[in-house]
Amino acid sequence: MSLLPQLIEQIKEEFQNRYEAVPSWVVAAPGRVNLIGEHTDYNDGFVLPMAIDRYTVIAAAPAEGPKANLFSVNKNESAEIIIDGIVNPDEKVEWSSYVQGTVSCCREEGFISRPFNALIHSTVPLGGGLSSSASLEVATATLVERISGKKFEPVAKALLCQKAEHLFAKMPCGIMDQFIATMGVEGQAMLLDCRSKKMRMVPLTDANIAILIVNSNVQHELTGSNYAERRDQCRQAAEILGVPSLRDANLLRLEKAKDALGDVLYRRAKHVITENFRAGALADMLALADWESCGRHMYASHESLRDDYEVSCDELDLLVNIAKSIGMEEGVYGSRMTGGGFGGCTVSLVRAGRAVAIGEAIKTRYMEKTGIEPTVFSTKPSQGAMVIL
Ligand code: ADP
Ligand code: MG
Repeated sequence: MSLLPQLIEQIKEEFQNRYEAVPSWVVAAPGRVNLIGEHTDYNDGFVLPMAIDRYTVIAAAPAEGPKANLFSVNKNESAEIIIDGIVNPDEKVEWSSYVQGTVSCCREEGFISRPFNALIHSTVPLGGGLSSSASLEVATATLVERISGKKFEPVAKALLCQKAEHLFAKMPCGIMDQFIATMGVEGQAMLLDCRSKKMRMVPLTDANIAILIVNSNVQHELTGSNYAERRDQCRQAAEILGVPSLRDANLLRLEKAKDALGDVLYRRAKHVITENFRAGALADMLALADWESCGRHMYASHESLRDDYEVSCDELDLLVNIAKSIGMEEGVYGSRMTGGGFGGCTVSLVRAGRAVAIGEAIKTRYMEKTGIEPTVFSTKPSQGAMVIL
């Protein structure tokens, strides 16, 4: 059963307590997990995310102008944003920058909001790699749609939220997070071609299957510089391979250029080429309900990220190894790190009836080895952005 109705009831009450009025509008947008296709987005490749049953909900009502007042329950902090005129991004990124950026980008497109009071409450962990940022942006754009009485075309809405993140949060992210938060569909994952922006929805409705997310609750330093380095290595490898981007390379070409590439670029390119293949393959195997093959692709993805792309870490490897040792007989089909790496979450494909027991077992063994308590929950593919009131 979805946790969203409970969150909506709670936020209505919180809104009333804070602003002494009932909300006129309530909107929600989900976080996401990427099932496969890691570090492929900036190589014009494929990703396979799904929306999770964790949402950012915004309740709002008209206010006396000229500004909009925000309160984040998660941050326990209020903020003001500017509704009219041209707003230049601040040097310093605050949590309200995500909201300000989205409202401003909407305004540029002729979607005008009136002054409002808003309360924001999210069950997507902030900074946990499940894209609370995109869920906040997409929820904000949905609120602006609701207030202005106009609707964006969904792809335009997602791109606008991405632009807000680039300009106002100064994060040069790809399109995945905003696409899935906007266009996610219950019971479906989304195979997204990051070059053409074309989507193929992949059914994942089997009641016996659940997606288990385990947050290692570690994030190692240097994530930013490693990311820039990987991007640059991919660009270099594509140049040597004579292709516009690694999306256009294949294994035959890679093997021929092995000496020219050298060990490191060869392994980086190999990850991207094989990961693009695995993303398509996993989409096909999910649609066929071939869980065993799905699991194989997920483990292979993890090994490729660990050995060739070198973005895993001990904690993520440990979580995947624990899941693997529980094994298929006990309900684990596959497991891999998800997100940029060096910490964050793993995603596992498990038998739904065993999800709680598997989660507990992983938690116990991870804590024994690391002394760190992981956060564990299971979810089904959930619905993208929605207007609730
Ligand atoms: P992720 O998207 O993986 O959760 P990011 O660093 O991209 O991590 O985004 C997290 C940031 O987004 C937070 O630090 C905060 O500034 C902002 N944010 C997201 N959700 C909320 C919220 N409910 N309330 C306030 N700020 C939020
Ligand atoms: Mg983010």
